Amino acid sequence: TIVLGIETSCDETAAAVIKNGTEILSNVVASQIESHKRFGGVVPEIASRHHVEQITIVIEEALKEASVGFSDIDAIAVTEGPGLVGALLVGVNAAKALAFAHGIPLVGVHHIAGHIYANRLIADMKFPLISLVVSGGHTELVYMKEHGSFEVIGETRDDAAGEAYDKVARTLNLPYPGGPHIDRLAQEGQPTLKLPRAWLEEGSYDFSFSGLKSAVINTLHNAEQRGETIEPQDLAASFQESVIDVLVTKTLKAVEEYKVNQVLLAGGVAANKGLRSALESAFAEIKDVELIIPPLALCTDNAAMIAAAGTVLFEKGNRGNYAMNAHPGLDIESM
Ligand code: ATP
Ligand code: MG
Ligand code: FE
Repeated sequence: TIVLGIETSCDETAAAVIKNGTEILSNVVASQIESHKRFGGVVPEIASRHHVEQITIVIEEALKEASVGFSDIDAIAVTEGPGLVGALLVGVNAAKALAFAHGIPLVGVHHIAGHIYANRLIADMKFPLISLVVSGGHTELVYMKEHGSFEVIGETRDDAAGEAYDKVARTLNLPYPGGPHIDRLAQEGQPTLKLPRAWLEEGSYDFSFSGLKSAVINTLHNAEQRGETIEPQDLAASFQESVIDVLVTKTLKAVEEYKVNQVLLAGGVAANKGLRSALESAFAEIKDVELIIPPLALCTDNAAMIAAAGTVLFEKGNRGNYAMNAHPGLDIESM
């Protein structure tokens, strides 16, 4: 099975070709970060315009790199949601037009299902499993008993982990997106500042990061008023330790309660060095549970992950039609 994946949910225009759900023939990503940087975040209207300019070029490049033509493609998988509506529409319409013109089946994919399925490009999935999803817009623990089945057992009640990273980075005057900069600073500093951890109610798998973000801002302001200086690398290290502590502890609890065989890390924040090594050391001690962490290029937005999830859905018989629309608030459990 050869699947063309298309992803335009946020600020990456991406297309990829995947063979048999696991083999990457091509994976092309055109990032718009430079265009959004001066605004300190993604500007939806600018994102849509860039997608319109890039989409045809990126798809052609993906086919060329994979050395395939439309006659070789068995299905076109596209991100239907969640994301920015104007951005999603560019990918959905390109996918529908190509599917119609070439008579190729269409499959709609949930963006977060894509992040989770990035793991299938490097390892076999062993069910039941839990995925820790940490991205710019989502932070959740997803239980999967089989392919294509997603149960959200916990999620953030306010900010996503990536959002918290980006907001803290902004208060430290670091460029957008701030996650990688905080990660780098954190490696150079010591977690000497006391910052809160939102455990929430006993037994809850939900998350909350807005209190931590406010605590970081308050710590900075208070120090400023007292004329004291705080080393940004120590603040970054303290913030990162607080985020990782909660993520790792809740994941370990869920693994025990749900008796899973595998843990998959997913989403842009999965690129975080501190999180990757904290999970690696925690799971090194746990026999019978395998930890999978995708390489950096498959953590942040890409279309290989959309094609990987799309292949599984296609093989299960899922089909989109020409009435497919963009769904900015699409629910993963409704897949
Ligand atoms: P979603 O997937 O929820 O729709 P998104 O697609 O915008 O949101 P991703 O592209 O998956 O998010 O991830 C981007 C986020 O990952 C940004 O918030 C960015 O700061 C964060 N990020 C990237 N690298 C790192 C890192 N090394 N450490 C921490 N955060 C990181
Ligand atoms: Mg992005
Ligand atoms: Fe994403």
